Amino acid sequence: MDYYGSQMSRLIEQLSSLPGIGGKSAQRLAFHIIHMPKEQVEQLAQTITEARENVRYCSVCCTLTDQEVCPICSNPARDKKTIMVVETTRDLAAYEKTGKYEGVYHVLHGAISPMLGVGPGDIRLKELMQRLQGEVNEVIIATNSSLEGETTAMYISKLIKPTGIKVSRIASGVPVGGDLEYIDEVTLLRALEGRVEL
Ligand code: ZN
Repeated sequence: MDYYGSQMSRLIEQLSSLPGIGGKSAQRLAFHIIHMPKEQVEQLAQTITEARENVRYCSVCCTLTDQEVCPICSNPARDKKTIMVVETTRDLAAYEKTGKYEGVYHVLHGAISPMLGVGPGDIRLKELMQRLQGEVNEVIIATNSSLEGETTAMYISKLIKPTGIKVSRIASGVPVGGDLEYIDEVTLLRALEGRVEL
């Protein structure tokens, strides 16, 4: 039975299709939205539309940004010769939160997974290899410690080795299968400082 009327039900249904939002949370959000001032709802809707419209990949590091080159890549204070390879923009954000990393990043947007049919051509590896034709001192591989993350790290290190550029892997203080974004800053820093050359 449709307790709420079709528009309310549709709102709940669409909200519950978002990741991590179950039926109950969707209901709670829907009621909250309905009681919000109209202008605020319009602003929220507009923000979502604009972000979807304008956010794209940085032409250098492939992170999500609304500029041609993201703020990290265009910051003259960042060390462009040290590139940390991460799986997602959320992982980048986790390292940025530590405030201690001065290099730049490369975001793969995924990891190699033969089981899921994700091959090297499906992540932003080609773009990374292109960057390495410039002046680079070190590539720090900070993919997750899951099977996919390790497979990807291995693959990248094999790819980079012949170029003579130093390749390192963040230390395994990071729990297996743990997503980087859920790990506290101290652990992240320890993993970065304790990185080992591959
Ligand atoms: Zn960038």
